[in-house]
Amino acid sequence: MTPPLPPRSSSLWLDDGAAPTYPRLEQDLDVDVTVVGAGITGLSTAVMLTRAGCTVAVLEARHLAATTSGRTTAKISLLQGTRAADVARSAGRAAVDDHLAAHAAGMRWLLDRAAGVDCDLERRPAVTYSTGPRDGSAARTVRRERELLAGAGLPVTGGTDVGLPFAVSEAVTLPGQSQFDPVPYLRDLAAEVHGSGGAVHEDTRVRSVSWRAPHEVRTPGGRVRSRWVVVATGLPILERGLHSTRMEPSRSYTLALRCGAELPAGMYLCADSPTRSIRDAAGDGERLLLVGGDGHRVGTTAPMLQHERDLAGWASRHWPVEAVVHRWSAQDYRTEDGLPFLGPISPLSPQVLVGFGFAKWGMTGGTAAAVALTDHVLGRTTPWASRMRADRVPRPRALPTLAMANGQVTRYLATGWARPDLPRDGLADGEGRVETTRRGKVARCRVGGRAYERSAVCPHLGGIVEWNDAELSWDCPLHASRFAPDGTVLEGPSTEPLGDPPGLAAVVRPRG
Ligand SMILES: Cc1cc2nc3c(=O)[nH]c(=O)nc-3n(C[C@H](O)[C@H](O)[C@H](O)COP(=O)(O)OP(=O)(O)OC[C@H]3O[C@@H](n4cnc5c(N)ncnc54)[C@H](O)[C@@H]3O)c2cc1C
Repeated sequence: MTPPLPPRSSSLWLDDGAAPTYPRLEQDLDVDVTVVGAGITGLSTAVMLTRAGCTVAVLEARHLAATTSGRTTAKISLLQGTRAADVARSAGRAAVDDHLAAHAAGMRWLLDRAAGVDCDLERRPAVTYSTGPRDGSAARTVRRERELLAGAGLPVTGGTDVGLPFAVSEAVTLPGQSQFDPVPYLRDLAAEVHGSGGAVHEDTRVRSVSWRAPHEVRTPGGRVRSRWVVVATGLPILERGLHSTRMEPSRSYTLALRCGAELPAGMYLCADSPTRSIRDAAGDGERLLLVGGDGHRVGTTAPMLQHERDLAGWASRHWPVEAVVHRWSAQDYRTEDGLPFLGPISPLSPQVLVGFGFAKWGMTGGTAAAVALTDHVLGRTTPWASRMRADRVPRPRALPTLAMANGQVTRYLATGWARPDLPRDGLADGEGRVETTRRGKVARCRVGGRAYERSAVCPHLGGIVEWNDAELSWDCPLHASRFAPDGTVLEGPSTEPLGDPPGLAAVVRPRG
């Protein structure tokens, strides 16, 4: 029997008791580098720059690890599903060496820094497996991954007895990888920045950054002037390199389960579709099984709660699941060629740097980005990063992916605006829908017994938002901006909240 889901989404790592502990920015500052975003990329960069003697201010819109870094599955591994095969296909075989060198550099720094932190850092073998036929495409990709990693000198093995309670047709295992709890680690990074004299401000949303250095970074409570700006917000909040058109934003789900059985001994990811990710983790005095997957483009495939029901059903077919203790979801971004975007956002703003596009491997990827961005600020060269420049032109072999992604954006833009009105019966708690009125599109929902009405038009680039019943949020299918029921920005490239409903008085005016 499928166990019931907890009523609300809450990440195991944050338990959603998370709240800002550093003050809002309420004054103007002058520093060498402003870091926007306190996820793993921003905080690692801030620590590295602080250690190099730079003065740094970290500005975080919500609280530390508020978005993907606080909702990840937090595996630290060089075997990353079938990422090496993906990079070889989209960016060429030579790019695999740079990809592995980047993640190895990120892993070295992360493991060294995490060693002294109470963050449940544990060694585990990483396993990628397939369950489909041995001559099917998933099994072939697993073999290709094994070949590429073995070719790079990693000690991979290939047996299919990998300790899972179901049959596996093909597998690759890399011993000696790790997993951890990212949140104490990230809090420790913030404490290091603060303790070394850096400024850390939460509840401080950056609204704009001037084009030319010295840059002025504007927030509602104050401005920061700096020579360099590092934008580490996931998909950048600045549209200066058309990056949002070169990105596939994908949201996936994770459940933490109490099981009456021994838990698997490794960290697993399947190559078949739908994806399944597996690891164990410390819960409240017990070991929990984490299962994840069911990724899809952000803001599509409603009702989204069904993905969590499907995951719970799948898990209980393979383990004696006693309860779902946590359920949550998160999003990350894959670039058109599978390599991240690192460095200057545009030749017109060469001192505004970005680091994103980690394709769900940002623990090592975000830390590697921090290494490359720090080197850039300090005038050092990072050999593996030249292929990952944020201002690169699309590679010819990535053009079909790019065309498909932008075809999808156009389709979601058109279907969102053309969607017919639905019958307007009452909304139950937890429900939301977009309604077409004579004056325009209205996003209506009911949460916690309270009704909300906002404009359904995403302020980023005009997409029509979709109700996400798993997270109780409005999600935009175009470029993955997400908003709370009252329209406040949760994540994504938008810096503005959903507007007042067209022609109607706002029920709640969001603070943004
Ligand atoms: C389901 C899932 C599972 C994953 N599992 C793994 C894994 O096992 N191993 C692995 O290596 N990677 C994994 N990843 C990927 C990894 O979690 C991410 O790549 C990484 O966390 C991204 O970190 P980041 O710091 O770049 O972005 P984020 O963590 O998203 O941080 C961005 C920060 O910027 C802030 N921000 C946004 N806008 C503004 C603004 N205007 N002003 C100020 N601040 C702003 C946000 O509030 C946020 O705190 C997973 C991803 C997903 C979605």
